[in-house]
Amino acid sequence: MIARREVILGGSLTLLWAAMHPCAGTAQARSRAAYRGCILTEAELSSYYDTKAEMRMYMTGREPIIHKSGNAAFDYALAQTLARLTATLQVLPGFAYYDDHDGLNAFASDAVRMQKADGTVLFGSRLLRRLMAGDDHPDVAVTAVCAHEYGHILQFKRGLIPRLQAGQTTVKRAELHADFLAGYYAGRRKLEKRDYPAAVFAATQHSFGDNQVSHPSHHGTPDERAAAIVAGFKAGYEQGRPLEDAITTGIAYVSRL
Ligand SMILES: [Zn+2]
Repeated sequence: MIARREVILGGSLTLLWAAMHPCAGTAQARSRAAYRGCILTEAELSSYYDTKAEMRMYMTGREPIIHKSGNAAFDYALAQTLARLTATLQVLPGFAYYDDHDGLNAFASDAVRMQKADGTVLFGSRLLRRLMAGDDHPDVAVTAVCAHEYGHILQFKRGLIPRLQAGQTTVKRAELHADFLAGYYAGRRKLEKRDYPAAVFAATQHSFGDNQVSHPSHHGTPDERAAAIVAGFKAGYEQGRPLEDAITTGIAYVSRL
């Protein structure tokens, strides 16, 4: 999995890994002081997504948010997936692609855009292409990243971030709780569709783990990320927990780490 991560990052970007590590892939040029995992503040989101002009300001200038991937069949399938995520996790964020030319990534923000009440998920178009180039159910790998970001949206909506981060020097608990919720979604999905390849969720998040355990942006080691997916999956699939129960079970799970 380390090898896969190296492939995702590309050799020239590896040095950035230690400096910043958002949810997936390498980082944006944000200050360490402002760093909050793959969670963006209102101001940070605005730097990506300027509602007035439907553009974002970043690095090289004004670059457009991309509402469609360019593949109509994929966008249709993804819309169905996002609707399922909304039904399972009870959140309705806006969703858009953006040009992650500076590093593969996806973000969640509590800032409201696109007339959706529960924040915004931004998915890097390069990360999308890289995941879709995978050979093991690439669409499900994309879903895993989306589910993780929707997990953050749930955390925002329910005010869980301060509780998850209390006394913590890294963002690990919030990140692994989002992984737990992603795994929960995979479990619920597998109850509906018995051949759903839920293991792809664990493999995907494993590939985005990091070993910078004392860095503020530490998201969990590869094994911790995969284990959080599995724990959430069990809560949904084996234990059949309702959402409210799964949320608290997930908090208890990460609090023991
Ligand atoms: Zn995250």
